[in-house]
Amino acid sequence: MSFLDYAPAPESTAILNLRENYGLFIGGEFVEGHGTPFSTISPATEKHIAQIANADASDVDAAVAAARRAYDRTWSRMSGSDRGKYLFRIARLVQERARELAVAESLDNGKPIKESRDVDIPLVAAWFFYYAGWADKLDYAGLGPAPRSLGVAAQVIPWNFPLLMLAWKIAPALAAGNTVVIKPAETTPLTALIFAEILQQADLPPGVVNIITGAGDTGHALVNHTDVNKVAFTGSTTVGRAIARSTAGSGKKLTLELGGKAANIVFDDAPIDQAIEGIVNGIFFNQGHVCCAGSRLLVQENIHDEVVSRLKARMSTLRVGDPLDKNTDVGAINSRAQLDRIRELSNVGVDEGAERWSPACQLPDAGFWFAPTIFTGVSTSHRIARDEIFGPVLSILTFRTPAEAIAKANNTPYGLSAGIWSDKGSRILGVADKLRAGVVWANTFNQFDPSSPFGGYKESGYGREGGRHGLAAYLESRGWTAPAVTKGARK
Ligand code: NAD
Repeated sequence: MSFLDYAPAPESTAILNLRENYGLFIGGEFVEGHGTPFSTISPATEKHIAQIANADASDVDAAVAAARRAYDRTWSRMSGSDRGKYLFRIARLVQERARELAVAESLDNGKPIKESRDVDIPLVAAWFFYYAGWADKLDYAGLGPAPRSLGVAAQVIPWNFPLLMLAWKIAPALAAGNTVVIKPAETTPLTALIFAEILQQADLPPGVVNIITGAGDTGHALVNHTDVNKVAFTGSTTVGRAIARSTAGSGKKLTLELGGKAANIVFDDAPIDQAIEGIVNGIFFNQGHVCCAGSRLLVQENIHDEVVSRLKARMSTLRVGDPLDKNTDVGAINSRAQLDRIRELSNVGVDEGAERWSPACQLPDAGFWFAPTIFTGVSTSHRIARDEIFGPVLSILTFRTPAEAIAKANNTPYGLSAGIWSDKGSRILGVADKLRAGVVWANTFNQFDPSSPFGGYKESGYGREGGRHGLAAYLESRGWTAPAVTKGARK
């Protein structure tokens, strides 16, 4: 619902040049998979987009073998400056095909086109540009002289930022001299397959990047393959835990980027209008399918009513609907399974006694939709304050003192991100120092930069992506100890 009526402004899909069937990208070519193919659909309409190959264990073998050959014969022997040239080329091709990639991402994932166009795809290019610059400077990464690549990296990514997560994984791995087998999520394989075409355009040597599609079984076979040297996983804590168990003792280097339940803390001296925008961005960006989403709002008690009332007014202007419409603020939920989970946890919130509110909004009949929702009267013991909902649902709690805010913010099994809203710099620094979260934003939220490390504590995983730290995950360090961002480290 909105105060103004907006004429539809749909982004054209004419720019897409999709295939009806996509194979697996192994050894620089599309090949058929041996599993049963599956359909990728638009979550906004439930319409079929393309048929996708399903990699079985023999396909995983072939992809890992191609990556090993490429590692031994070309990539590990190539100079850093030559590797960098390929990465720069990929970055430029992503920019050239940015509109096509943005449309494909919104179609397959359900996220608003203004996000895929202005956030996801520009960041994908930025990630490749950034790590292209590192490829010939690894001696200066703080890992000792001539740090060595690891070999073949097995990478498994989720569906919330499909191409961006691919860039976070592939760019540092390649810059460091590793080759890759990557598996996109089963509900969002499309942009990874268009990216495979970009790799062909870039003339990347065959086998340096292999892209295999499939579901959990494929991911399981990949991370447990005996000829991979490094596993990088982004996804749920449950699967991350299983991977940590199965790779233990195998000698594989492991990084895990898992879930979160971030506190967004608003003090009574905060610039309230900015804070409202930050709260909205923190939880409704990408339908709340964001591991670092500000899904727990901690608001100082004396401004609770004002914040809630202003938040409701702002939420009433959000436009929910067609992801390809340039006016859309909140798009479709990525899958029926995710929608079911959001519904279930929201119902639990009501059963536990919290008060639920959503603006009046008309949701389309077909597709997967969930109206932006807030819960007030939430206490720390409620499941909606503890479990990751991974949808457009905000739980609002109150606090009286900074010490109480810190205690409540840290009262979670996760530790990925947090936000602080205050006019007072010393308070921001003092609180940030005591928050056990990998990333803390001050008077802003959900800002990402390739030079800035990202990752969590506790059940949010270990290892960092981005920046110099992101390189450390793909290199053997010689006589270098990681800075204090290792698993479970206390800030
Ligand atoms: P998921 O763990 O079910 O799936 C993630 C990926 O793992 C998919 O590609 C899936 O096919 C694959 N997979 C599933 N079972 C597997 C197995 N046994 N072995 C290997 N691979 C397997 O998670 P999801 O529902 O797709 O993603 C949402 C979760 O990801 C949320 O919890 C979210 O917080 C987290 N996430 C974290 C980050 C981060 O950077 N920390 C970023 C995005 C998403």
